[in-house]
Amino acid sequence: MNLNCPVCKKPIDQQAAESKTGETAFGAKEIDPSKGTRQFHEGVWYYFDTLNCRTKFTVSPQRYLAP
Ligand SMILES: [Zn+2]
Repeated sequence: MNLNCPVCKKPIDQQAAESKTGETAFGAKEIDPSKGTRQFHEGVWYYFDTLNCRTKFTVSPQRYLAP
């Protein structure tokens, strides 16, 4: 599967981004920040290559989702 970071457009290894490094108290997946991360936004998982990109997306998702 081919994914790109919506912020910087770099390709993402989804398998690495989803690799489980532990469970939180709520059973949610912990993502290894060195391998990428993701964010659930309006029903869709978005994948990011770095936490920095995810933070930018979280602050203003429309900036990166707008056509
Ligand atoms: Zn990025």
